[in-house]
Amino acid sequence: MGIIEHAIQFASGHTQRPYECRSCRTSFEVEYHVCPECSGFSVERPV
Ligand SMILES: [Zn+2]
Repeated sequence: MGIIEHAIQFASGHTQRPYECRSCRTSFEVEYHVCPECSGFSVERPV
């Protein structure tokens, strides 16, 4: 997904959380370098 599509999704009010921690499976609306839930370093966008 490109930045334009992401902006469109945001503007259209979707509540999708594009980032997910690989360790605890918590999803987030913003990207974290360290997961706030489990302190893991694998918060990424699911592919
Ligand atoms: Zn986590």
